[in-house]
Amino acid sequence: MAYCSIAIDGPSGAGKSSMAKAIAAKYSFIYVDTGAIYRTVGLAAHRRGISCSDEAAVSKILPELNIEMKYDGQGEQRMYLDGEDVSSDIRLPEISICASDVSALPAVRAFLLEMQRSMARTNNVIMDGRDIGTVVLPDADVKIFLTASSAERARRRLLQLMEKGINEDYEKVLREIEYRDQQDSNRDIAPLKPADDAVIVDTSELDIDGTIAVLSSIIEERLDLN
Ligand code: C5P
Repeated sequence: MAYCSIAIDGPSGAGKSSMAKAIAAKYSFIYVDTGAIYRTVGLAAHRRGISCSDEAAVSKILPELNIEMKYDGQGEQRMYLDGEDVSSDIRLPEISICASDVSALPAVRAFLLEMQRSMARTNNVIMDGRDIGTVVLPDADVKIFLTASSAERARRRLLQLMEKGINEDYEKVLREIEYRDQQDSNRDIAPLKPADDAVIVDTSELDIDGTIAVLSSIIEERLDLN
């Protein structure tokens, strides 16, 4: 049986995960948050006290890591590192930076590629990340590149952190977003960029419902759901 796949790429804080969750629920697809997998590797390196940009040191720990992705009763993706549920720890701001650092390492990207592809071979998936449409699922049925201004993305990320009880400073969140944009877009391997056949959607002026409506119409047209 052939499965459908939807790729959503874009910079940090563009709303990819909220959108992908909503779209997954609407069309009964499985949502795969690939950033969470990079974050788990970043957390593992951080916990071992090694520099997240030291390719030799990070490569050395990769074979020791037991990373698992599971779905709970509500359909939420949970990340496990060596049997421990690390789904909250991977969201800490310092781990965002570690995730971006480790994700620039070719050894890490190669290590995680098969894990991501195998999800799409066995499920209808909506997968979000930076290189889903360009590298992980180049044959995805629908490719969307979701973006928004960095100021708007920082504002949204701040609200998200506040909802989790984490208080951060706006300027710090903006700097972190700009650091990650710069690093994710300029790395040699799998840089953040729209696939040639992606539809670019700028959400700076759109609210959640407006974005869902735009994405739904793209998906329904591409998957011929009308
Ligand atoms: O999406 P999220 O912000 O959780 O991703 C954390 C980091 O992981 C990103 O800044 C990016 O560097 C990296 N990443 C990636 N490729 C993906 C998903 C995330 O390089 N497919």
